Amino acid sequence: MKRSEKNTVSLVGVGVIGRGWMRVFSSAGYRTQIYDENRLQVQGAMAWLEESLLQDIRDGLISPKEAEKCRKLIYVYDDFHQALAGADYVQESGPERLDLKQAIFAEMDRGSDSRTILASSTSGLDINAITKGIKGANRCIMAHPFNPPHVAPVVEILPTAKTAHSVTERTMNLLAEAGQKPVLLNCFIPGFLGNRIQAAVMREAIHLVEKGVAGVEAVDAVMSHGLGLRWALLGAFGVNNTNADGGVREYYHRYGEAYIGWLNDLDPNPPSFSPEMIEMIGRGVEHMEGEATVQEICTWRDRLVRKIVHLKEKDPHP
Ligand code: NAD
Repeated sequence: MKRSEKNTVSLVGVGVIGRGWMRVFSSAGYRTQIYDENRLQVQGAMAWLEESLLQDIRDGLISPKEAEKCRKLIYVYDDFHQALAGADYVQESGPERLDLKQAIFAEMDRGSDSRTILASSTSGLDINAITKGIKGANRCIMAHPFNPPHVAPVVEILPTAKTAHSVTERTMNLLAEAGQKPVLLNCFIPGFLGNRIQAAVMREAIHLVEKGVAGVEAVDAVMSHGLGLRWALLGAFGVNNTNADGGVREYYHRYGEAYIGWLNDLDPNPPSFSPEMIEMIGRGVEHMEGEATVQEICTWRDRLVRKIVHLKEKDPHP
C-alpha cells in the first residue's frame, strides 16, 4: 500500500485513543471513517479534534490549510458496517475488555473485505485471545499506541500466530507512512515493551521516595533534566553507546560491574501501592506542580513533546 493509493482507514471507538488516531490518519492524508456505538463520544471526539487543530495552529505546528485538509478527511458513520466499507485498515479502540473486543473483532471480521487489516489498540490483552476462533485471524494484528498517538508516535506491533507476514509488513508500512514509529514484538508478554520498561523505572523511583533517599521532585528532576532528555533522543542502549568514547562495548566492560552492584542493591519487591504510599507520592507531586492543573500540564506536555518530535525530524540522528 503506497500513500499515493490514498488508503482508507476506519476507526472503531473514538474515545481517548481513537480520537488521537483520528488526528494521526487524517493528518497523514488518509480518508478516515469513524464509528462509535456512543454518539456522544463521536461528538466529544469531533470537538476535541477541533480544539487540538486550533491549538496546533496557535503553536505554529500546522497551517490553517492543513487543519482544513484534516477536517475534510473525517467521515462519521452511524452504521458499523458502513464505517468499515472500503477500508484498507481498521483500528479498533474499544474498551479494554476481552469479551467486548472478541465481539467487536468477530463483527469486524464478518463485516469487512477479506483484504482489510484488522488492528487492535489493546494495551494489555493478547491479540491471540482477542481473535481466537475468528475466520480472518490471518489479517488481525495488535497495534498498541502510546497516549496520545498523535503526540507520541511509537506503536507496538504484535501479529497473531496466524497473521500473514504480508499483513504485518503492510501494517508497519501504513503506520510509518502515517508518521508513526512501529516496533515489532516477537511474542506476547504482559505489558509489552513500554509498560514493562516504565514499570521497572517506576519501581525504583517509588522505592527511592518511600525509603526517604530523596523526594518526588528530586527523583523527577533526575528524569526530566537528565536521563529523560537523552533517552528521548537515543533510547537506553543508544545512550549507553554514547557514555564511553569507544561505544557501548567499552561502556559495559568498564561499568558492567558497577551496574551489577546497583542492580543487586535494588529492592526486588514491587512497591505496595498502599493508600499511605499513594498519599506520600500524591503530596510530593502536588508540592512539585504547585497551582497548575493536570489539564494545563497535559496541554503543555503535548505541545512540547510535539515540538521535540518536529525538531528530531528536522535535525535527524546522524
Ligand atoms: P475509552 O473508554 O476512552 O474509549 C473507548 C470507546 O469505545 C468509547 O468511546 C466507547 O463508546 C467505544 N465503544 C464501546 N463499545 C463499542 C463498540 N462495540 N463499537 C464501537 N465503539 C465502542 O478508552 P481508551 O482509553 O480510548 O482505550 C481504548 C483502547 O486503547 C483500549 O483497548 C485501551 O487499552 C487502549 N489504549 C489506551 C491507552 C490510554 O492511555 N488510554 C493507551 C494505549 C492503548
